[in-house]
Amino acid sequence: MDGSGLPEIRSTCPYCGVGCGVLLRPDGEGGIAVRGDPEHPANFGRLCSKGSALGETVGFEHRLLSPMVNGSARSWNDALQLVADRFSSTIAEHGPDSVAFYVSGQLLTEDYYVANKLMKGFIGSANIDTNSRLCMASSVAGHKRAFGTDTVPGTYEDLDEADLVVLVGSNLAWCHPVLHQRLLTARKKRGTKIVVIDPRRTASCNDADMHLALKPGSDVALFNHLLAEVYESGAVDADFVAHTNGFDTALDAARADVISVTGLSDTQIAEFCKLWINTEKVVTIYSQGVNQSTSGSDKVNAILNSHLATGRIGTPGCGPFSVTGQPNAMGGREVGGLANMLACHLDLENADHRAAVRHFWNAPAMPKAHGLKAVDMFQAVGDGRIKALWIIHTNPAVSMPDADAVRDAIASCPFIVVSDITGATDTARLADVLLPASAWAEKDGTVTNSDRTISRQRKAIDAPGQARPDWDILAEVGRRMGFASAFDFASPAEIFREYAALSGVAEQFGRDFDVSGLSKISDVHYDDMTPQRWPITPTRQGGRFFADGQFYHPDRKARFVPVRFKPPAAKTEPRFPFRLNTGRLRDQWHTMTRTALSPRLSAHLPEPFLDIHPADAGRLGVGTADLVRLTSPIGSAILRARITDSVQPGHVFASIHWTGETAPSARIDAVIAAATDPVSGQPESKASVVSVTRFEPA
Ligand code: SF4
Repeated sequence: MDGSGLPEIRSTCPYCGVGCGVLLRPDGEGGIAVRGDPEHPANFGRLCSKGSALGETVGFEHRLLSPMVNGSARSWNDALQLVADRFSSTIAEHGPDSVAFYVSGQLLTEDYYVANKLMKGFIGSANIDTNSRLCMASSVAGHKRAFGTDTVPGTYEDLDEADLVVLVGSNLAWCHPVLHQRLLTARKKRGTKIVVIDPRRTASCNDADMHLALKPGSDVALFNHLLAEVYESGAVDADFVAHTNGFDTALDAARADVISVTGLSDTQIAEFCKLWINTEKVVTIYSQGVNQSTSGSDKVNAILNSHLATGRIGTPGCGPFSVTGQPNAMGGREVGGLANMLACHLDLENADHRAAVRHFWNAPAMPKAHGLKAVDMFQAVGDGRIKALWIIHTNPAVSMPDADAVRDAIASCPFIVVSDITGATDTARLADVLLPASAWAEKDGTVTNSDRTISRQRKAIDAPGQARPDWDILAEVGRRMGFASAFDFASPAEIFREYAALSGVAEQFGRDFDVSGLSKISDVHYDDMTPQRWPITPTRQGGRFFADGQFYHPDRKARFVPVRFKPPAAKTEPRFPFRLNTGRLRDQWHTMTRTALSPRLSAHLPEPFLDIHPADAGRLGVGTADLVRLTSPIGSAILRARITDSVQPGHVFASIHWTGETAPSARIDAVIAAATDPVSGQPESKASVVSVTRFEPA
């Protein structure tokens, strides 16, 4: 209870992977007041601008209130039967790989579990991928190559205890603001040094001791040089390296790399290496600047190699730390919500793993190979291989690279289903069937944040109209496709218990870090669940991984991965002389479907802009607030110029948020080509090539 006497409901902020706890107080008229939960271990009561404006983003005006089929309101019965019939008939005629689900890190773990079970176990295809592919797939791939599983070693407490925190391709101050506040608090207490490695001078640089404005894509060369310096200076932890394979090969690759590609001075590089090597407690945080790259997985492994060589992993104040963008990107990974994963950190390509999951689910079919990853999936939609696609809580018609081609592919697909809270997105407008889904404050379930802490999201207000939770919609379609007993779920608690029990099955394969300790959780305890970090097994609870030198490859050793610098896929040339970087703004989220509802948030940076260096602006005759046209080999956008030396000469920066609904001529993903990392399938969203010209409206 708060001072008003009304009950407050504990839940979780639905925006980013920090996973802050919130206290929600409904006003009885569909609104809610929001404050930070002082007891939540991620934020201890803090909220950022987006989290504190959550109350402004609920409301019914913008909501989809009933199922729609070809633009007309229909009953749930009609709409769901149509979805089940069309998916079943498409599979019968063209096979299971002719259908696909494209889902979202906004889904709760229970929603994700049901979608994954339906596609992989009962439809018999692995064609389920997620917009998290655009966010952290390279980190997943890097973890699997080094550790044997996608296991995040560290915790947020490591930030409190580190003496040096290195932010690589991570504007923590804007994209994970509460984590950044936590870092600044630690800095006040213990003088933590902060280094930012980013081509752009971001808000995170304001509090940094050092900013290394390296050339885009050259992170591998920098961390390779660091690994070589670690060796030369005698800082290798030989005892820890005994728990690994491949050190010599990785070191040879590192020494063969050329540090000049970073564009950094010898002094800058030497100071960074000295600081890193001479500081015992180092945390290296990385996010989209590392992941969203055609060499994203290699960048991740270059970072992991340095931590493995020094044994700086899994001990207090030490470790590599991938921070996730979306509220439940981690939960999706846990239940296998990516086209190349099986549930519970098991592997699709492993026959024993497949057999165990199939047996547990009593499933009729299991795919033997990876499904289509996001970029490939929409190419398959465009060329007709995918004939029925269900898109859930995401807006690929504007958020995928090569967005015009993706939009056209969706428009050409014979059957498109969209589940969302609104029917007014660019993607929803292309749907044959629109299904109204409950929003974050209207449904129950769990999410997992970047440091593996599972938190409850709790229903605080009723969903408007006929909106339903996603797990319920998915399970009903599963039942109508003929899989009644497998999808006979009555509540999210029931789904969570099944997921927890399946995670226990993974123990026989050495995956001893699951949530099997919750497989018998009662409805009451599920309802009361307090935040807790996995693993949660009868013998293990929370904590850090790998300090004991035990990893998840068959020999229980970690692997160094030899990596070499590779330039971004697109090369600048006279026609396209600028390198385009993209990223988030402090007060917007994804394609603004929620944040644009808050006048306070929209006031921060109210229109799409392009940051351009003063020297380039002068040469092009571009003045402050002029309109500029940005043209790449695949598309163009018109933005307002902001002249700033936060970008390097020859580089420009634009944000990702504006859509066909909010600014039709400023869809930045229409400019970005769909080049992907060959290991992770993650697209390169931060190194396109473009031309910039002054634009005069007619
Ligand atoms: Fe929400 Fe992320 Fe802000 Fe926390 S830091 S309040 S999770 S947006």
